[in-house]
Amino acid sequence: MAKRILVSGGAGFIGSHLCTKLVQDGNDVICLDNFFTGAKKNVEHLIGYTNFEIVRHDVIDPFRAEVDEIYNLACPASPIHYQYDPIQTTKTSVYGALNMLGLAKRVRAKILQASTSEVYGDPEVHPQPEEYWGNVNPIGIRSCYDEGKRCAETLFMDYRRQHNLRIKIVRIFNTYGPKMLAHDGRVVSNFILQALNNQVITIYGDGQQTRSFQYIDDLIEGMVKMMDTEDNFTGPVNMGNPVEFTILELAQKIIKLTNSKSEIVFLPLPHDDPKQRKPDISLAKEKLNWEPTIQLEEGLLKMIEYFTKNHIQ
Ligand code: NAD
Ligand code: UDP
Ligand code: UDP
Repeated sequence: MAKRILVSGGAGFIGSHLCTKLVQDGNDVICLDNFFTGAKKNVEHLIGYTNFEIVRHDVIDPFRAEVDEIYNLACPASPIHYQYDPIQTTKTSVYGALNMLGLAKRVRAKILQASTSEVYGDPEVHPQPEEYWGNVNPIGIRSCYDEGKRCAETLFMDYRRQHNLRIKIVRIFNTYGPKMLAHDGRVVSNFILQALNNQVITIYGDGQQTRSFQYIDDLIEGMVKMMDTEDNFTGPVNMGNPVEFTILELAQKIIKLTNSKSEIVFLPLPHDDPKQRKPDISLAKEKLNWEPTIQLEEGLLKMIEYFTKNHIQ
């Protein structure tokens, strides 16, 4: 049955894919965004559908609507953008979560939080299961994002305990795909652009740090499945691709796939850059019957095609 669904941060990379899926499934979708890192262009193909609506609004301020479900995604996700105005980042995570929870409480909507693997910080446990409490610096340059997201998880759990809200928490690991902002400094988009333009590939540090990369379509399927789980399952649940690569391996793969003449340069590693990251997805497998199906090479080829087709330079 069609539902009324609010997606905060709906004009961003993940949000726009989610809105597309929810509209295609016949739901009534409100996309809420202040367009800090998102853009109307990301959802322009949905404008004109009678079951799609776009609203310019900052989640720091209260918002009213009558909906059945809320996906709370509003928050810049790349270090360049979340460090641009770190106080605004914390406000977005914390006040944004409070306002969306207050709204969910008033209309008794189900609400899902887009949390992050960053709640594990620079992890000392590998791979990271949901029970791991993390190793997060509370006063560093990444803290506005990491601690903001941790506080949002706290609020979600307290609204559950205090007000019996139906909540869901998904901890998203590095995700890539079409509609990612080209110049937000994320590793996959940086390397593909550098390779396509035969520019030097910038590896920070020695390239031995690891990440696990998930293709956007796998994540969207997982998020919708999570929203549909029974009410007493709140998570947090990890969502990511458990196949781990070093950043050097990623660079080499992209050079090969793009047939590029780019050379690799090694630059200083940013502060608090996690050394390793890989999700333990046993819980998602068990509870959602979900696991990623698109492996790195296949996903990279789709992203390379998108950047090439859209003449992104
Ligand atoms: P994005 O920057 O493309 O999207 C974020 C969206 O939120 C943008 O459209 C932006 O304009 C909007 N926004 C930011 N502040 C806002 C505010 N105060 N009010 C209203 N809208 C606001 O990033 P993304 O990669 O699509 O990330 C979406 C969510 O997923 C974020 O919450 C992020 O923390 C989480 N996440 C993403 C990844 C990833 O790898 N992309 C990993 C972990 C978690
Ligand atoms: N809120 C909102 N939309 C609503 C209902 C509440 O944005 O439809 C906001 C409200 O302004 C408050 C926050 O959500 O800032 C938390 O609301 P709650 O009712 O939980 O707490 P209180 O209003 O008592 O602080
Ligand atoms: N990175 C890199 N070169 C770049 C961009 C990023 O070597 O041009 C590294 C970065 O230092 C980190 C990893 O790639 O170790 C992933 O960075 P990203 O910002 O994409 O995600 P996050 O650090 O949030 O996992």
